[in-house]
Amino acid sequence: MKDTFLSANLVSESLIRVSIFSSVSFEPFLPSVLRDGEKIQGVRLVKCSSFQSNSLLDLELPEPLQLGHSYLIFAGEYGQTGVNLDWMLDKKEFLEKYTYEGKDLGVTFQKETTTFKLWAPFAHRVLIRLRPYKKNSNEPYEYHSLKRGDCGVYSLVLKGDFHGYEYRYCVFNPQGPVEVADPYAKASVANGISSIAVHPNPMLGKNKDTLPPCSCLTEAIIYETHVRDFTSHPSTDIQNKGTYLGLVEPGKKTKNGHPAGLDYLKMLGITHLQLLPIADYASVKEGNPSVGYNWGYDPAQYFVPEGSLSTDPEDPFARIEEVKTMVSTLHQNGIRVVMDVVFNHVYEGWESNFEKVVPGYYFRRLPSGKRSNCSGCGCDFASERPMVSKLIVDACLHWVQEYDIDGFRFDLMGLLDVKTLEAIQTEVLRLKPDFCFYGEGWDMARGVNLPMGTKGNAPMLPRFGFFNDFYREAAKRFFCQDPSSLHDFEFGIAGSCVDFFHKAHFISASQSINYLECHDNHTFYDVLSSSCPELEEKEKNELIQASIAGLLTSFGVPFLHMGEEIGQSKNGQGNTYNSGDKLNQFDYDRLDGNFAMAEGVSKWIALRKALPFLSSFSPKEIDENFDLTDYRGCLRLVLKKKEWIKEYGFLVFYINPSNHEVNFVEEGDMHLVLSTSSQLGFDSEGLLIPPRTVSIYSNQ
Ligand code: CA
Repeated sequence: MKDTFLSANLVSESLIRVSIFSSVSFEPFLPSVLRDGEKIQGVRLVKCSSFQSNSLLDLELPEPLQLGHSYLIFAGEYGQTGVNLDWMLDKKEFLEKYTYEGKDLGVTFQKETTTFKLWAPFAHRVLIRLRPYKKNSNEPYEYHSLKRGDCGVYSLVLKGDFHGYEYRYCVFNPQGPVEVADPYAKASVANGISSIAVHPNPMLGKNKDTLPPCSCLTEAIIYETHVRDFTSHPSTDIQNKGTYLGLVEPGKKTKNGHPAGLDYLKMLGITHLQLLPIADYASVKEGNPSVGYNWGYDPAQYFVPEGSLSTDPEDPFARIEEVKTMVSTLHQNGIRVVMDVVFNHVYEGWESNFEKVVPGYYFRRLPSGKRSNCSGCGCDFASERPMVSKLIVDACLHWVQEYDIDGFRFDLMGLLDVKTLEAIQTEVLRLKPDFCFYGEGWDMARGVNLPMGTKGNAPMLPRFGFFNDFYREAAKRFFCQDPSSLHDFEFGIAGSCVDFFHKAHFISASQSINYLECHDNHTFYDVLSSSCPELEEKEKNELIQASIAGLLTSFGVPFLHMGEEIGQSKNGQGNTYNSGDKLNQFDYDRLDGNFAMAEGVSKWIALRKALPFLSSFSPKEIDENFDLTDYRGCLRLVLKKKEWIKEYGFLVFYINPSNHEVNFVEEGDMHLVLSTSSQLGFDSEGLLIPPRTVSIYSNQ
């Protein structure tokens, strides 16, 4: 064989362009085209061109290429090749004929049968091998052929109940056979090598009536953590450290006897726990999690829980049961669970099972043909394609039905199309009307001519929240004592939805996820340390408490990152996704040292819950009923609608980030409701607001 590279691409429904790269001079010829092993008669060479070492041969088939058959090009001494079908991907005919709407991809169980279904429209043959799952099993596999049906779905109905069987598919695609785990697997062995057939056991509806109502996202108080980071620190008596179960062990304590784990969350009083990815990710070895560390923004399987957070990754059912236990225990303790879902890219994208099953389909390309890399991971998931969109919606529904999840935080939501996000919303709200949706609406997508889930498109997604980076930056500057931030922060306090120094960013305060730090930011403690190096430790902690009180006083959705409330540091580092346990874990020793800070935050959370008007979300209501002014760098927020707060009469919030005291003269006798400071009082000039504090007063 000559030193050569051969490829073939479909370029119209019956035209195949064969490309030959060869260092040897080229003579035009007519390659053979085999369909299902038989030579097609009547293939014509309609064009031949050669430039330097590249030669192109256009072969016209007597009838259009049909999916479900194998096509092979035999080019004599240049070799043989399958046909790349990328041309078809976005063609209307392909989308119409090969978009499957059934709800039964993966494994489904009937009374006396088990059905396996795989969407593989380009394949001409699909085999399955299966056997009962046992760790280190030597049992032989049984093999079956799946039957091609409508929409390119291959299926197999087997008599009997195959719950607990491990299986893999062999998919014969134009580029050759590939062996894969099921992209719709609901369970898998460690590291996702094989899929496991598992009976559904939906938890939705079984955990009922233990949660307080949450009719609007502004009623939520979100706390972001990671299962492993929250439980792995050595200074607690949590038994199952680094696992789903460890997160919900009751009665656990720190060294000094303060509440740890679940009890600590309860003490804070948060309403929503946002967990960094718990769907399967690739980069932590499940058999030995302690040797690797990763937050999990490297998704592998979308329907399967991550194994490294389970007490037994080798047991395919353990992780499923443990996630269910975790969610239901949190529910019993009044806490909803938000999953961080990563649908914008896939680990090993172009080498993943998705790409192997339907080459070219799952990942986005730019109009130039280049692979889209807006996620920075080189394989942006093509959410706009119907079967990708369906997979995302189906995965979301699975987590809601099977695990009773209460919310999704979409990683890089700006890379997902609005239509897919709307479809998720419609389907999920049918199951759970108080479900919450929010995400990172950064404007990152390029080359997709569709509206995407960006902050700029917030009016198109009224039920979605967006991480409000404007609030974050304004709040950081404000509490780092930068006076130029005053009006920006005032705009933030008003929910970023009222024309107030800036034009409104959102149509409702419920769209504004207010925060100072999240997992991949610098912690606010570190920001303070670098921005205000002159501050003493005590002063930094005062500003942290004030910033959180300010957050809980702002209109919008308060969002806290684990450890923020005790002034945790990550040594000045930001995105510490693979930096190990020590830097990332919740520091229970620091909690012991700064317990009063955490207690203070719990009081502000309790106050926010006790003052429902702080959950106002309508821009009109916020605009008309609250008055926000500033004096000597201190903000004063007054509630004008007195019937809401009869018990308080006149209620005023003072937020003073500065290093000086500020005096206010108010009508009537003012009584303290809550303050981040213990040093309050009056002097001859009236009410005295100490430096670096937030306080609320009433005149009743
Ligand atoms: Ca994994």
